[in-house]
Amino acid sequence: MSKFNLLVLGKQGAGKGTQCKRLCETYGIPHVATGDMLRAAVKAQSPLGLQVESIMKSGGLVSDELVNALIAERLLEADAHQGILLDGFPRTLGQATALDELLGDDGVSLVIDLDVASDLVTERLSARRVCQECGAIYRDTDVAAISGTCENCGGDVIQRADDQPDAIRKRLETYERDTAPLLSFYAERGLLATVDGSLEPDAVTAQINAIIAERGLA
Ligand code: ADP
Repeated sequence: MSKFNLLVLGKQGAGKGTQCKRLCETYGIPHVATGDMLRAAVKAQSPLGLQVESIMKSGGLVSDELVNALIAERLLEADAHQGILLDGFPRTLGQATALDELLGDDGVSLVIDLDVASDLVTERLSARRVCQECGAIYRDTDVAAISGTCENCGGDVIQRADDQPDAIRKRLETYERDTAPLLSFYAERGLLATVDGSLEPDAVTAQINAIIAERGLA
């Protein structure tokens, strides 16, 4: 199988996490999600975690300097040399140019944009509950969300602080301002493929797999 570096872009709540997990299993590449890495740092109360905790809670973006350094370090690990899937990075043009430098000749192979209307993502995020241990995602009406206990691992199922209404609004505004410009940045290089993220998860996965095959990446 060829090596490829895949980016998945999309608003918060577009379904990036679910699709990325599936893609990584299918193509055998590591799933690198800056949000998960930063949340782990906050949970561990590491120096990085202490630095980013309040900005994350409010729904703001962590500085390019910090996330670029985090990704630079992650890309040095052995498993990242056989291709990688980046979820939640880059989110600004500054991060996108830093990524180009980090990937060097290999570069970005394909950028998937999971396109979903703001009303739908707002509804999905408001109803989202997550397991603090394994990251499993539930809806507020699911048994695990009501009982507060994860069906996979028994961890606590909670509502993320940034899934509260004010933080959701702020995150979506930030997406439009800082991240949406990346769509034309990658489209101009012929790397962007847009997928309808409002469809059922299986239909979304099928579309992405078809694009990867069409482009001869796997
Ligand atoms: P979402 O995209 O649903 O907000 P993530 O789990 O991807 O959730 O990210 C959670 C938070 O982590 C973001 O709101 C932001 O504060 C921080 N974060 C994650 N990735 C980045 C990034 N590439 N640049 C800056 N901040 C980031």
